[in-house]
Amino acid sequence: MLNTTQSSHLFQRARQVIPGGVNSPVRAFRGVGGDPLFIARGEGAYLYDVDGNRYVDYVLSWGPLILGHAHPVVVEAIRRQAAWGTSYGAPTELEVELASLICQLMPAVEMVRFVNSGTEATMSALRLARAYTGRRKIIKFAGCYHGHADLLLVQAGSGVATLGLPDSPGVPPGATQDTLTAPYNDLEAVRVLFEQFPDDIAAVIVEPVAGNMGVVPPANGFLPGLRDLTRAYGALLIFDEVMTGFRVALGGAQQKYGVQPDLTALGKVIGGGLPVGAYGGQRAIMEQVAPAGPVYQAGTLSGNPLAMAAGLATLRTLCEPGVFGQIEAVARTVHDAICREARAAGVPVQTAVVGTMFGLFFNEHPVTSYDEAKTSDTRRYATFFHALLARGVYLAPSAFEAGFASLAHAGPALDQTLDAIEGVFRCDLV
Ligand SMILES: *Cc1c(COP(=O)(O)O)cnc(C)c1O
Repeated sequence: MLNTTQSSHLFQRARQVIPGGVNSPVRAFRGVGGDPLFIARGEGAYLYDVDGNRYVDYVLSWGPLILGHAHPVVVEAIRRQAAWGTSYGAPTELEVELASLICQLMPAVEMVRFVNSGTEATMSALRLARAYTGRRKIIKFAGCYHGHADLLLVQAGSGVATLGLPDSPGVPPGATQDTLTAPYNDLEAVRVLFEQFPDDIAAVIVEPVAGNMGVVPPANGFLPGLRDLTRAYGALLIFDEVMTGFRVALGGAQQKYGVQPDLTALGKVIGGGLPVGAYGGQRAIMEQVAPAGPVYQAGTLSGNPLAMAAGLATLRTLCEPGVFGQIEAVARTVHDAICREARAAGVPVQTAVVGTMFGLFFNEHPVTSYDEAKTSDTRRYATFFHALLARGVYLAPSAFEAGFASLAHAGPALDQTLDAIEGVFRCDLV
């Protein structure tokens, strides 16, 4: 049994001064039961909690840490920049360097604007799409998460929703009434919405590989179909690559699947573990953003030099020969082990691996949408999670999240993971 006394003690204190004791809901372990671990430090593939337990970490700050914790090159870049000042509120060479590298790597990005989070990135991209098209409605997909801006907090519902209802108290109906919802991977539903509102839809926003309802890859033809429909009706296609950017391929899902969105939202990996977001796309659209154009968007700490330095160090290392392939191999190895052991144990699972992301559902049937994802056995996931944790492997504390691999995982951390997976399926899940 794990000793987590110090974590429990800190959690008690935290709940006195922070709502629910955490600064982002899924950290609270509500999906799997128990108290969250409080982390003392991270090193390579490992997290160490305040009680001194060590875990192989497949959460990696929910995706950003693709090189692992405290990679020496990233730490040095931050240290050097910190000594030169942490923020200027004036332009720097670092922003130009990172923007250029992103444009070089991402096929559909010609210009980018940096912001401070993925939430800001999608919110700003949607404002820009509405401005550029002069239209109000947007289409999103049930089970895709794009941050917590009002217009995106709509009830998932089942099937097509033509009137977005708020999914949280405090979101006024007016903020979501122009947000239409379709089931993921359901091109026909999107076609129906376009036929119903041919001149009103500004944009379709999609996670090109869904990673916030577990990992659900796009069906064959889904992304090209969205490209064709948006083009036919004069709407913009927005890929939310906050998670998939530099994770499913070096050039993101747009490169992997060969589909060019008009706008792309980024975050996570491009900040190397510091707070960051970005949105980018075609020059003609991006030049509508202030001060080049009339669409207002600003930020005191946007393009923050520490975040830029960490992001640049991360992306440059990721681009070195062989690096990305090595991280993909880790994800595939973990994925394959889950498949193999589940089959041997007779436990029904649905799994996916895309680039450096992997996921599993305890489900007898294929999962291609949120409605299908929700039929998964979340109690069995909780058992799986806690059994792996006891064996020193930290997966997301929720059945509907992705697993992430890093460069630091190859070697002993991966071996420990494979042993743990074998042990859990043979001893804990029967
Ligand atoms: C994490 C995430 C966001 C939100 O990013 P924050 O930095 O948490 O605001 C948006 N979209 C996707 C696809 C994400 O995975």
